[in-house]
Amino acid sequence: MSKKQFQAESKRLLEMMINSIYTQREIFLRELISNASDAIDKIYYRALSDDQLVFDKDNYYVKLTADKESRTLTISDTGIGMTEEDLENNLGIIAKSGSLAFKKENEAQDGHNIIGQFGVGFYSAFMVADTVTVISKPLGSDQAFKWVSEGADGYTIVPCEKAEVGTDIILQIKENTEDDRYDEYLEEYRLKAIIKKYSDFIRYPIKMDVKSQ
Ligand code: ADP
Ligand code: MG
Repeated sequence: MSKKQFQAESKRLLEMMINSIYTQREIFLRELISNASDAIDKIYYRALSDDQLVFDKDNYYVKLTADKESRTLTISDTGIGMTEEDLENNLGIIAKSGSLAFKKENEAQDGHNIIGQFGVGFYSAFMVADTVTVISKPLGSDQAFKWVSEGADGYTIVPCEKAEVGTDIILQIKENTEDDRYDEYLEEYRLKAIIKKYSDFIRYPIKMDVKSQ
């Protein structure tokens, strides 16, 4: 299976994220939860104009699953999902490279706060994960697809199985190094604190399941 390349601008932002010495890595969770919430909003708005679709609030939520043994953190949502084309178009390129343009203009300035001020989006996952897997099944389709990337050298998309409509973002959390700790992103207390800090306003329930070894 051939690897597809990211667009040049996306690749630059991605490299920025991967090599980030950024102190506020924790914002990756804000970004992924906000995407999950946006995806549920999309079903909600669809249901307003589609009589076939009933929006029962109990069926819509975001769920974090941390598994210390496999070192994975999964952010799942029951939102609208992505087609193969969506995966290609939305995750392979950067629609709004606002943060990149801003960074260019302010190169002299300390880069640290810049990322935090702007929605950096999906790619911020690479600040804490060395592999990111997205499994998604879009509303109105029986076919799910899996997008996998280990960073700047591209991504693959293959068909896969998924029972429910929605998206799972699976982060293979980086190993600790001498200078950087990543274990904390598999800890319930830490995840809860990050959610409280950045995602308190999210309108859908955020469930959590932490599996210890
Ligand atoms: P933004 O949220 O500002 O559009 P992101 O980089 O955060 O930028 O996300 C890019 C796009 O990928 C989103 O606009 C959306 O179309 C798609 N996307 C990301 N996460 C999800 C998700 N959990 N469910 C459905 N679509 C998603
Ligand atoms: Mg976003």
